[in-house]
Amino acid sequence: MNVPFLDLKAPYLELKTELDKAYQRVMTSGWYIMGNELEAFEQEFADYCGVKNCIGVGNGLDALHLALKAWGIGAGDEVIVPANTYIATWLAVTYTGARPVPVEPNEHTYNIDPHKIEAAINKNTKAIIAVHLYGQAADMQTINMIAKKYGLKVLEDAAQAHGARCHGKQVGGLGDAAGFSFYPGKNLGALGDGGAVTTNDDDLADKVRILRNYGSKVKYQNEEIGFNSRLDELQAALLRVKLRHINEWNGRRVQIAKKYLAELANTELILPTVPDWAEPVWHLFVIRSKQRDYLQRELADKGINTLIHYPIPPHLSGAYKEYNWQVGDFPISEVLAHEVLSLPMGPHLTNEQVMYAIEKLKCF
Ligand SMILES: *Cc1c(COP(=O)(O)O)cnc(C)c1O
Repeated sequence: MNVPFLDLKAPYLELKTELDKAYQRVMTSGWYIMGNELEAFEQEFADYCGVKNCIGVGNGLDALHLALKAWGIGAGDEVIVPANTYIATWLAVTYTGARPVPVEPNEHTYNIDPHKIEAAINKNTKAIIAVHLYGQAADMQTINMIAKKYGLKVLEDAAQAHGARCHGKQVGGLGDAAGFSFYPGKNLGALGDGGAVTTNDDDLADKVRILRNYGSKVKYQNEEIGFNSRLDELQAALLRVKLRHINEWNGRRVQIAKKYLAELANTELILPTVPDWAEPVWHLFVIRSKQRDYLQRELADKGINTLIHYPIPPHLSGAYKEYNWQVGDFPISEVLAHEVLSLPMGPHLTNEQVMYAIEKLKCF
């Protein structure tokens, strides 16, 4: 049997009729950037997240970058980021000219450890980026408390967590702003690149709207040095279709995760920990093993495809070499990079595929 890590064709085939209709509608409209589809999607996604504003942008990295930029964060400022995250979280900070200041994760949830944040705050600190890694919300209550105490902004990196909940409340409205990605492999994926900022702050929303479109509100009146980062009509129309199915598809991910958790409970593998206040949407189902590389090869031999999120923590990547971070600077993140393995996960995996993967995993 072959168990793909994630099947990106299956979602298209399931929604082919609806998606093709949306595609035709945009193709024949003669309007491809900044039109009705974007406006409708922004409203629908804002409603979905339970926030006042959604601004569609070119991708998830831009969403994070433009939110920070709109707050006026730049050179000389510091932004707290998780040491354990995808590098895009850090790059968004670097783009503004500010310095990313890494904080280690909780070793059970893999999300930023709120109890280690205060030690990283100084007079230059302007914001905290909380990543809802693998689809599970970070501890937003504690993070917001710390941010309030020091007057910091909180930016959620919700790129992996569309629909996830924290104390019953959906991500996207849990901080001062949130950045989402609609990269095809994300829980809500476009058929190309896409992203969005969500926020309850009308002023911030206004600023991000200007920044994404050449710094202008009125055509050819450029108030500041903006960017070209827009969610196009075609992607917006396709996302509107997929948004109608996300709860059902997230539900399927939850079922698969429950199966993995129950069936793998008595193995040597370290399974994900879910705090009682968290309702993850399982963008990834990540296990840990000291024999990770061996395990991955053995599974591949049996047709089971896995991936590693992520093999090199940002502080040890070439991109950040000028910061001179060393092996051992963020030991929890470094151990995770050696031990994590993402099992096949997605709404279109069959029960047979999941059971086959479980059966093979149990052999270790
Ligand atoms: C995917 C991702 C991003 C970036 O999204 P893009 O749309 O690829 O730019 C940012 N942060 C995290 C945690 C991600 O997983």
